[in-house]
Amino acid sequence: MTDLTELGIAAIRDGVRAGTFSAVEVAEAFNANIAAAKALNAFLVETPEHALAAARAADAARAAGEELKPLAGVSIGMKDLFCTAGVATTAASHILEGFTPTYESTVSQNLWDAGAGMLGKLNMDQFAMGSSNETSAFGNVISPWRRKDGGNAPLAPGGSSGGSSAAVAARLCPGATGTDTGGSIRQPAAFTGISGIKPTYGRCSRWGTIAFASSLDQAGPMARDVRDCAIMLEAMAGFDAKDSTSLKLDVPRWEAGLSPSMAGKRVGIPKEYRVDGMPAEIEALWQRGIAWLKDAGAEIVDVSLPHTKYALPAYYIIAPAEASSNLARYDGVRYGLRDLPQGAGLQDMYAATRADGFGSEVKRRIMIGTYVLSAGFYDAYYTQAQKVRTLIARDFQAAFETCDVLLTPTAPSAAFALGEKSADPIAMYLNDVFTVPSSLAGLPAMSVPGGLDEAGLPLGLQIIGKPLDEQGVLNAGLAIEERAGFTARAGRWW
Ligand code: GLN
Repeated sequence: MTDLTELGIAAIRDGVRAGTFSAVEVAEAFNANIAAAKALNAFLVETPEHALAAARAADAARAAGEELKPLAGVSIGMKDLFCTAGVATTAASHILEGFTPTYESTVSQNLWDAGAGMLGKLNMDQFAMGSSNETSAFGNVISPWRRKDGGNAPLAPGGSSGGSSAAVAARLCPGATGTDTGGSIRQPAAFTGISGIKPTYGRCSRWGTIAFASSLDQAGPMARDVRDCAIMLEAMAGFDAKDSTSLKLDVPRWEAGLSPSMAGKRVGIPKEYRVDGMPAEIEALWQRGIAWLKDAGAEIVDVSLPHTKYALPAYYIIAPAEASSNLARYDGVRYGLRDLPQGAGLQDMYAATRADGFGSEVKRRIMIGTYVLSAGFYDAYYTQAQKVRTLIARDFQAAFETCDVLLTPTAPSAAFALGEKSADPIAMYLNDVFTVPSSLAGLPAMSVPGGLDEAGLPLGLQIIGKPLDEQGVLNAGLAIEERAGFTARAGRWW
């Protein structure tokens, strides 16, 4: 029998429906792969029974001749930023240790309602702050990929959804949820040779998702290919009255709308994304992407996004500002950790809990955020950054008058080694240079694999779309996917 963990979401769904294999067999196969992959540290909590229960329900529904749900038989991984009822949820932070939500996030509930089951909670950068998974309080995830001849240096799976990217790339699950505040779906997807899409801000409910920067946070799927992303996003998205920024719109049938033809479409190439010191390999990747989309029938146009260079600094003011406010709720009273030194008062408890519970990157962001929001500096930093954000959104608006989608590299490099950038926050933040502008503008954006670098590591191409045009993004992604023929995968060493 074929190894069921080699199958993606569409193939599993169709196979279960056709009776080629059972949903329970699928769940068991992924559970076994997870049990054998502890070395990757991708899962913080394993929930084999959750996956099996959903699988049994799918098999029973089929046996009873009932219509199967859209994700019946599909087991997935859940980023640990999503609250899951009765299952420990920590956002990979010590401060949430011991927290077991009594409620389910809307996105995870939507997935269960669609028939999916959960294999476990995935490791991540603490509170989704980071680009390498090294800020997790529970040890970093190790990418399944290794450099061809660079020794065995363990590589970063990207961040913050690095447990998700590593798990999909290592065949521990056919798809996983991610969240993207400034690139955390797209960059880890690029680092591990998989696909991931961040939808338009407001498509996926934020309710029950632990907040990092509320005006930027969006959930999205990470999976083997574009079709699987479309299937999973359809299940995750949708209006939710419990999130005030949720968009009151029907969920389009993205899978049914998939088409790799770019005939009549214009693809914009933003000249400002050709940053100083960009490796030649990234430029070559970009050129290949341009040629593929041309081959698919697109017209290529040059566009300008003049405020691009201010996006990263603006993001690293706005995101910490919102984080400093969102994280104020972790005080030792309501959730998780409580450090109550002998004879201590309330203020001492706050201080002790936070000092012990938050990791250093989280503390850095809280301090930056508090500073830029403080009375004397609010206008100089926060208000300025918000103005820049508006200008960036306007840049995109203007560009989309002459093109339908934009094509850029996803990240300025392939995966780096663990430890390589962790001592230098600025070097780490530079990873987000291509992903942050579309986050600030709330636009849908996706990464698809575009090939390998000289060391044999995956590189990703990013497609950015107009507001609500996930279909255009997915279709351009499919056009690239069909031409890139990306079949490389990590050799199994774990
Ligand atoms: N790497 C970025 C940051 O550290 C993005 C994180 C994210 O999208 N969650 O803020």
